[in-house]
Parts: sequence; structure tokens; C-alpha cells
Amino acid sequence: MKDFHENTKAIRTRTPRTSENEHSAPLFLTSSFQFDSAEDMEGAFLEQNNLNIYSRFINPTVREFIDRVCVLENAEDGFATATGMAAIFGTFMTFLSAGDHILSSSSIFGSTHTILTKYLVRWGISSTYADINKPEEWEAKIQPNTKIIYLETPTNPGLDVIDLEYIGQLAKKHNIMLVVDNCFATPILQKPIDFGADLVIHSATKWMDGQGRVLGGIIVGKKELIREVYLFCRQTGPSMSPFNAWVLSRSLETLDVRIQRHCDNAEALAKILENHPKINKVNYPFSPSHPGYAIAKKQMKRGGGLITFDLKGGAEAGKKFMNALEMLTVTSNLGDSRTIASHPASTTHSKLTVEEKAAVGITEGLIRVSVGLEYIDDIAADILQALDKS
Ligand SMILES: *Cc1c(COP(=O)(O)O)cnc(C)c1O
Repeated sequence: MKDFHENTKAIRTRTPRTSENEHSAPLFLTSSFQFDSAEDMEGAFLEQNNLNIYSRFINPTVREFIDRVCVLENAEDGFATATGMAAIFGTFMTFLSAGDHILSSSSIFGSTHTILTKYLVRWGISSTYADINKPEEWEAKIQPNTKIIYLETPTNPGLDVIDLEYIGQLAKKHNIMLVVDNCFATPILQKPIDFGADLVIHSATKWMDGQGRVLGGIIVGKKELIREVYLFCRQTGPSMSPFNAWVLSRSLETLDVRIQRHCDNAEALAKILENHPKINKVNYPFSPSHPGYAIAKKQMKRGGGLITFDLKGGAEAGKKFMNALEMLTVTSNLGDSRTIASHPASTTHSKLTVEEKAAVGITEGLIRVSVGLEYIDDIAADILQALDKS
């Protein structure tokens, strides 16, 4: 399938057809696999053949999902996990030992922050935060024991972007592994491996599923690194369920069309809300007013499905806005066909001080919208009527 576009290849990648000649790939809902002989089984455990053993190690349906993501991310191999957090934690546990250090962007997913600051320190693994908007300060923060540089771009919920090419070169120069959580952009819009990332992580729960149904995670990248991840995970057990892999693998067939529509709607919404009298500022990576516009244009195909805006009335206006919504869903998830609104200052980030919130781009009146697939006029009308009441 060499000459096809990557989206064609991903759609056409599937588990080998069985003797039933099914067109759509079957779901291999089995925990273990049987062998024709003791020798085959012996060979499987010695990795002398490619026979399946046990679904904690690998399962054909999970393999299909991995292969599809590898095609989309330009990755050599991958390992799929039960959740995005299992992918992140599994990666840290595979490669870090006591005494090692992670240089991380300060704007990272909340549970990743908790892993770094609460749990890894218990095993003698330290971390330092670097400002996503000041990449020129990152090099000075590299230590002799820095093993991983870790980041997300665009960030949640600030939608800040960082120059992946610059950080990729920095990691290479210092011989440090670069790990990128590419959840917000998806491989349709951004391929971190092309800019020097060694490993790319996804919460497949978000845009990849796209319909808020199942949890999942994946790590993809260089074959020799994935081998280490595999050896760690096959023993410790964060593996993805074949059922979830089957759901997610079908979802990947529509990822490109869905992301294009999410972007259409988000772009239109950003324009509609710009200069609204109740809003200080609309934030969207592909808006010329975004501070990271040039970098976003350089490394992303489009701006993505998330926009944020800052209400002039602060926290009070934020809550009034949320209560006035009639169609948009009030939930903390994102990446769904249904448009979702959240008010980070009173929910996901309520435990942070005002200064800590400001450092990750969260103002008291910030609203995050995960723009869905509904008709854009309906999405905009609901937001505009809620703005009137806030
Ligand atoms: C949701 C999310 C995660 C965690 O994924 P789960 O599937 O919920 O475990 C990690 N990183 C980012 C950027 C996320 O949005």
C-alpha cells in the first residue's frame, strides 16, 4: 500500500481476513489463544514465531488499532493501553529510574501533573517545568540526568503552542527522549514524529473515539523504544481491551472527515465570537490574533476543534454562561460529536491559585468549547443566547 495517501492506508489497514470472508474486520474478543502443538507454544513464548499468546500481550483487534495509528502518525510501532493516562504512566515507568529527571512543559493534563509531582517523586524521579511560551528558556533547564522532555501542543485549556521543530532539535542535541502528547491535534492535523519526537502518546478517549463512548490510550514511535514499552506493559497489564480497540479502530476510519468538520465549525465559531461585547478575547490557534499563530501554521494543518474565550464578567459570568446553555453539554470531556462547554476556573482547575491559573492561561472567566459536529448555526445560536444572559 506504498503509494496511497496515509488516510487511505489507515482505512484499508485491517486484521487478516478469516475463512468467513468478512468485509468488516471482526472483533477478537478472546483473552487467550490456542496452539496446534507444544512446539508452536514453545516457539511463541521464545518469540520465534508470531503466534498470539494472551491479550494482555497483544490481540489482533488491538493490533489493527495500533497499526492504523502508526500509519497516521508515521510511526514504526505502538502499544495500546486502557486509557490515555495508562499510556503516559506506562511510558514514564518503562524509561525512568530513580535519580532520573523529566523536563516537562508547565501546561500539561492535570493527571499527568499529579503523576509528576505526587507519585514519581516517591521513586526518586524529579521533574522541572518549563514555560510553553518561552522555548528559549528550555535548554538551560536540561540537567545531566534529564531522560525525557515531555510536552503537549496545543495545550489544555490555554491552547498555547510550542515550536516542535525547535524542541525536537534541542532533544536531539542533548540526546534526550522527546515524548509528545498529541491528543489535542490528532495525527490528522499534526505529526510530532516528523519534527523529531521519539514517542507520541494519545488519549484515544477524545477525538479518536470522537463520540464519548470508550476509554483508550496509545504510545507510538521508534521500534526499539516500543519494544521496551511492550515488555514493561505485557508484564504490568495496562493493555487495551479488544472491544475498545474494535470501537476505536472503526472510529479512525472517519477521523479525517470528522476533524475537518470540527475545524470548519471551530473556525466559524471563532470568527462569530470575535469582537463580541461580552468577550475580552477569543483564543484559537489558527486565528491571526493568537500569539502562536505562526508556529501553529508551521506545524499544524488546521487549528483543531477547541476554542476558548474569556468573559469580561469573570467567574460569575462564567457560571451564568454555563447555566444559560440550552443545547451545549456541560461536561469535562472533549473531542465529541456533541459540542461541550466547560468553565475550568470553577471545575478542573479550581484547586489552583489565581497565579497558578494565570501561568497556564486560565482566567476566571475562561470558557472552553469543544466544538462538535452539529450544524454551526445551532452551536453559535446557543452560545450567543447564553452570552446575552451572562
Ligand atoms: C484526557 C487526556 C489525557 C488522559 O486520557 P484518559 O484517556 O482520560 O486517561 C491525557 N492527555 C490529554 C491532553 C487529555 O486531554
